[in-house]
Amino acid sequence: MTSQEISAVLPGDEMAQTRAKMGQPIVTAATSRDRGEGPWKRLILRGATVIDGTGAPPIGPTDIVVTDGRISLLKKIGGTPAKPKGAVPTEPGDHEIDCHGKWVTPGFIDCHAHAGVAYHAANGWVPPVDYVYKLWLAHGVTTVREMGSFNGLTWMLDQKKLSDENRIAAPRLLTYCYFPAVNDMLKLIHTPDAGRVWLRQVKERGADGIKFFGAPPAIMEAALDECRKLGLRSGCHHAQMAVTRMNALTSAKWGLTSAEHYYGLPEALFEDRIVQSFPLDYNYNDEYFRFSVSGQMFRQGATPGSKKWNEALDQFLELGFTFVPTFTIYDANRDLMRARQADWHQQYAWKSMWKYFAPQRGGHGSYWYRWSTQNEIEWKENYRLWMAFINEYKNRGGRVCTGSDSGFIYQIFGFGYIRELELLQEAGFHPLEVIRSATSQGAALCGLEDEIGTIEVGKRADLLVHDHNPLEDFKLLYGTGAMRLDEGTNGPKFVRGLKLTIKDGIVYDTAELLADVRKMVEESWADDDVERPSTRDPAA
Ligand SMILES: [Zn+2]
Repeated sequence: MTSQEISAVLPGDEMAQTRAKMGQPIVTAATSRDRGEGPWKRLILRGATVIDGTGAPPIGPTDIVVTDGRISLLKKIGGTPAKPKGAVPTEPGDHEIDCHGKWVTPGFIDCHAHAGVAYHAANGWVPPVDYVYKLWLAHGVTTVREMGSFNGLTWMLDQKKLSDENRIAAPRLLTYCYFPAVNDMLKLIHTPDAGRVWLRQVKERGADGIKFFGAPPAIMEAALDECRKLGLRSGCHHAQMAVTRMNALTSAKWGLTSAEHYYGLPEALFEDRIVQSFPLDYNYNDEYFRFSVSGQMFRQGATPGSKKWNEALDQFLELGFTFVPTFTIYDANRDLMRARQADWHQQYAWKSMWKYFAPQRGGHGSYWYRWSTQNEIEWKENYRLWMAFINEYKNRGGRVCTGSDSGFIYQIFGFGYIRELELLQEAGFHPLEVIRSATSQGAALCGLEDEIGTIEVGKRADLLVHDHNPLEDFKLLYGTGAMRLDEGTNGPKFVRGLKLTIKDGIVYDTAELLADVRKMVEESWADDDVERPSTRDPAA
């Protein structure tokens, strides 16, 4: 784009407009709501075992009363295992859900997600955002911190408003704008003052926060100062092209709210180098290089328990910093075949996404040019060190949030979020700590701790109704369910635990949402000569 063309574009829309001109049209927006019942004046969830999101253990049976979309009463009731004497039954509601023998958690918050990915246009028809929204809701995601607003701030603000008014079937949306000051992406801001002006403009338009990929230090420092003044929150993917000049600790000191993925953290742990040990024939544009050698990075930093390691932990803690690791999005790096053969691809992988994931030059995250045993072993070791740091940060009181970044690297929306719950547990989190990360910790990161994230009187009714205890196995939350033995047939069966997703008191049946998605996906594959995802039928 020329500077003249850019000046006609509204602040926050620059990336979307640029991509549209490159043949990546903006993702089709949602316009109406065809699923979800309610809201009701008085909704009652009767007899639930409550996991409240604070880290407290399950307790029940409890009646949860929702009045006009907010929790108005939590009442311990008679019945097993606790039977208070003389308990007065809760007055009837105008809609009731029997939750005896069921578990209720707060709705999940995805702290790093994208509302569709226009990049998929490289391989065909991009899924409309309804596909994404329904997969999120079907996996319990009721709030999304949309990192980058790559469909443009105008698009995001419209979708956010429609979701807030429950006129579309979508999670609540927070819009974080791409800060256009990146050397290798879109760079329109060249001075600190221009950055400040742009930030005031997007704040004025209604942005919730900013997504950084790094910037020249003077611009980044001024921008974070301006964010603080304006009350804009921020997350940064410390891209390799910018990280030498500012790692996660540098930007944390300048006021950054959160570090996304792993980027910028190994660099904060380096003690015998400043620059990652790049192969000498490295080229950042070659994604095989980018992603293979980034699997060597934590090994190049301070060892767990060392002085440097502890100093870094202490400094991040002192700053009240947040990590959103998104372990899930790199899961394929340590076992490509596992990610590629996931149970859900056959029914839930949209055609252009599936094709986009396959090795191809020019596709982001499609770097399987010669992915090897060695690459996977290095990434497994990288995860061990990365997970050790993140778990220790949590243990010392630091905030770790749950994010998925799905839409790339064989990760499908919704499914990728549940995988992140599994990976936080693998990192050492107790399942209650995982739920806390996915709910109350996410709410705090987003500045919504008074509205969502826990089951408490006064909070919005963002609630999940589970047929099975989610703490026992997060796999039960996958849209395809978890494999079990069917004692009747002595064969496999798939058990799905998440029955209802309630957002703002609107009740969504996850089975209906999943059926809608399967139908959309089927249509995306109609008349196609490309081989379908080569997974077996999960229902078989
Ligand atoms: Zn992302």
